[in-house]
Amino acid sequence: MDKQSSQPVLKKQRPRTCVGCGEESPKRILLRVIRTPDGEVRYDPTGKANGRGAYVCARRSCVESAKKKKSFSRALKAEVPEPLYAELLEKCGDEEAG
Ligand SMILES: [Zn+2]
Repeated sequence: MDKQSSQPVLKKQRPRTCVGCGEESPKRILLRVIRTPDGEVRYDPTGKANGRGAYVCARRSCVESAKKKKSFSRALKAEVPEPLYAELLEKCGDEEAG
């Protein structure tokens, strides 16, 4: 009698770490940026698009920090078009107090 040993499939959920401040922020709003299979880097408002993704807090300081450090380029291994940052900044709300 063969007993099939089925190993439980562990779904590894990667923490969504902001490329700006480096903090995991499950509660904070994170903007998702993806690299499409075509190699294009763009903002993904749905959070469901296929592709390699990177996250940044919806905070101006984080987006600007990511821009300065070229964090998206490094995380996605692709060139980030300048207008993307403007788009992300638009999604940022008011600067958080504290
Ligand atoms: Zn952040």
